[in-house]
Amino acid sequence: MSENTTAASLAAAVRGGDRSAVEVVEECLAAIDAGDRALHAFLTVTAEAARAAAAEIDQRVAAGDDPGPLAGVPVALKDNMCTRGVATTCGSRILEGWCPPYDATVVERLAAAGAIVVGKTNLDEFAMGSSTENSAFGPSRNPRDTSRVPGGSSGGSAAAVAAGFVPLALGSDTGGSIRQPAALCGVVGMKPTYGRVSRSGLVAFASSLDQIGPLTATVADAALLFEVIAGHDPLDSTSIPEPVPEVGAHLDDGVEGLRVGLVTELLGEGIAPDVAVRTRAAADALEEAGAKVEEVAVPAAVYGLSAYYLIAPAEASSNLARFDGVRYGLRVDAPTTQEMMVATRTKGFGPEVKRRIMLGTYALSAGYYDAYYGKAQRVRTLIADDFAAAYERVDVLLAPTSPTTAFPLGDKTADPMAMYMNDVCTIPSSLSGDPAVSVPFGTGDDGLPVGVQVMAPALAEIDLFRAAAALEASAPR
Ligand code: GLN
Repeated sequence: MSENTTAASLAAAVRGGDRSAVEVVEECLAAIDAGDRALHAFLTVTAEAARAAAAEIDQRVAAGDDPGPLAGVPVALKDNMCTRGVATTCGSRILEGWCPPYDATVVERLAAAGAIVVGKTNLDEFAMGSSTENSAFGPSRNPRDTSRVPGGSSGGSAAAVAAGFVPLALGSDTGGSIRQPAALCGVVGMKPTYGRVSRSGLVAFASSLDQIGPLTATVADAALLFEVIAGHDPLDSTSIPEPVPEVGAHLDDGVEGLRVGLVTELLGEGIAPDVAVRTRAAADALEEAGAKVEEVAVPAAVYGLSAYYLIAPAEASSNLARFDGVRYGLRVDAPTTQEMMVATRTKGFGPEVKRRIMLGTYALSAGYYDAYYGKAQRVRTLIADDFAAAYERVDVLLAPTSPTTAFPLGDKTADPMAMYMNDVCTIPSSLSGDPAVSVPFGTGDDGLPVGVQVMAPALAEIDLFRAAAALEASAPR
C-alpha cells in the first residue's frame, strides 16, 4: 500500500481539507465494483449510506469541525457485526433477510471517529472455519492468487484489505480467524486481549474466546484502528475497565533490550519447513534490531487444538440455540412448533455449523461433561499457566501464524481435521486470552505470503505493537 492510501494519511488529508471524503469513498466503491467479482470479499456493499456519511464528513470539515482520527476512511466489517437496518447474515441462510435493530459498539465507535462503513464482508458460516469456504453464499478468493483460499473465517475482510479495496477492516477471532487470514493474504491482523474490545453486537460464536480486531495493510493502521475500537463498554459484561494503551505512540520505540521467545512447540511437526524458516528469520531480524532472542517452551500449547474443539463447539451449541425460527431470519413452516424449529434449523444451518452443534452438545451432555468439557477447561488453565511462565522469561513470543501458506480452494473441504489443523498456532493465545498479531514476513517457497505471529501477555499491547512494527520494518520485500 502506498503512503497516501494508508488510513492515517487519508484521515490526515480529509481532516486538513486536502481531500474530500466523498472522493475517497467514490474511489473505494469503484475499486470494489471493478475487482470484487473475482474475489467475493463482500456480501453487501452499502454504497448509498457510505456516500451520505462521507458528504456529512465533508460538511463538518468545511464548518471547521474535526470529524475524528479516521475522518473519511473507508472500512469494511465482517458480516457477523450488527449494523442497524443493514443485513447481517453471519454467512448463514438462517439469518437471511434479518436486519439488526442496533449497531455493534465497534460500529458506533468507528462512526464517532469519522470512519465510513462501505460494506459487510464474507465469512465462514458463524465464523466457523479457516478458509471462508463454509459461507452459505460461496467462498472468497485470495487476491494474491485467486485459485487459493484467503483463509478464514474473516477471509472477506482480509481479502478486501489485501486487494486494496479498503485500508481498514474489522474481523473477529475466536481461534485465529483474524490472524490466519491476515497471514494467508499478506496483511496485518491483530487479536486484542480478551475483553479489550467490546463484543456487544458481535453475533456470538464462543463467548469466552470471541474478540473483534483490525485487519490492515500496515502495523501503524492496525494500531490506529485498535485505539478507536478498544475501551470499556458497559454493554459487554467481560469488558475490561482499564484505559486503552497508546500503542501508536510507541511504534517507533524499537526493540532494543526487548526479550523475545521463539515458541519451541510451534516450530516442529505440522509446520511447513518454509514457514518455519521464515519464522526463524523473523527472530533473527529482531535480534539484529537489538532484541534478546531465545527459544522458550510452552509445553501445553500442543493440547490447544483438542481443548479448543471441545470448548468452542460447547459454547457454540448454546449460543446458536437462539436461531429457532421464532426470533430471527428464516422460518420453515410446519404443523407444530417443535417441527418448525427442527425444519428451520435443518434447512438454515450448513454442515460445519451442524457438526459443531453436535460436537458441543455431546461434550456438554450429562455423563460426558467431566470427561470432555471439564477436562478441556483444565487444559485451558494449563495453557494459560505455561504462557504465564514463559512471560516471566520474555516480553513477547514469536511463532508462525499459520502452518502453511494459502492452500487451493477445495483442498481441505472434505477433511474437517485437516481444516482444523490450520489453527494450531493461533489457538493457544485464544485460550489464554492474550493479545497476538500476525505480520507479513516474506513469502514461502510457492511465492505466497507468510505471516509471523507476535504474542504478548494480557494487556501488553504496547510491547506487542512495538515488536510488530520492528518486524514490519525488517520484513523482506
Ligand atoms: N478456524 C477456527 C474455527 O473454525 C477459528 C474460527 C474463528 O476464530 N472464528 O473454529
